[in-house]
Amino acid sequence: MFARMAATAEGTAAAALRQVLQRVQQAAEKANRTPEQVRLVAVSKTKPVAMLEEVFQAGQRHFGENYVQELLEKAPKMPAEVKWHFIGHLQSNKAKPLIAEVSNLFLVETVDSVKIANQLDKAVAGAGRSPLNVYVQVNTSGEESKFGVEPGDCVDLAKHVHTGCSNLNFSGLMTIGMADYTSTPQNFKTLTQCREAVCEELGLSIQDVELSMGMSGDFEQAIALGSTNVRVGSTIFGARDYGPK
Ligand SMILES: *Cc1c(COP(=O)(O)O)cnc(C)c1O
Repeated sequence: MFARMAATAEGTAAAALRQVLQRVQQAAEKANRTPEQVRLVAVSKTKPVAMLEEVFQAGQRHFGENYVQELLEKAPKMPAEVKWHFIGHLQSNKAKPLIAEVSNLFLVETVDSVKIANQLDKAVAGAGRSPLNVYVQVNTSGEESKFGVEPGDCVDLAKHVHTGCSNLNFSGLMTIGMADYTSTPQNFKTLTQCREAVCEELGLSIQDVELSMGMSGDFEQAIALGSTNVRVGSTIFGARDYGPK
């Protein structure tokens, strides 16, 4: 009996992952898109490495973390095949250790100032790595507690990253919807409008600029509105006791 309980507990996150992947697939198909057009990032902040390993074993490769210190501790304990996304607010003095120590860092989703872009650019050059993928974070809900540039400033920052930071690969835009989800459709539409403006100004095609939007409570809505990168934490790993939402 105990063995059975343990087996069940062990498989919880993996089972939840499969359910989320299924929901991603259904939402993509409903929107006449293929599941390959939507990347799932498993947001593992505050969760123990054993749980991440379970989800990795189930096939998940993209993981997201919010705190530099936590990522620096977890990354060496996880397989090198993991593609890490940094999705928290990045302080400029943390850019260097983040780049130097996490060689399999795949994407920084939260570039929200020229200063942080320049710090990352310099750190990537210093580490001698190939260009780092980054998203520009946009505050589409207007909440003061949220980081990110104003929608009206996204073109300028995207342009700086794209044309002024040779060690960064401008890959898209990211936003966090309203916490109570009431205005997320509008937040997500705002991000798609930001993408149109960026593409026009930089001469990029829509397919070249990803949209990172959608979390546990609204990822299906986000996929319907064009998200290419959803960040799902608690629905896979369970509720968090502490840390940011
Ligand atoms: C925590 C977090 C998530 C995941 O949130 P859930 O509601 O647990 O899915 C996604 N994006 C960012 C930026 C986060 O901080």
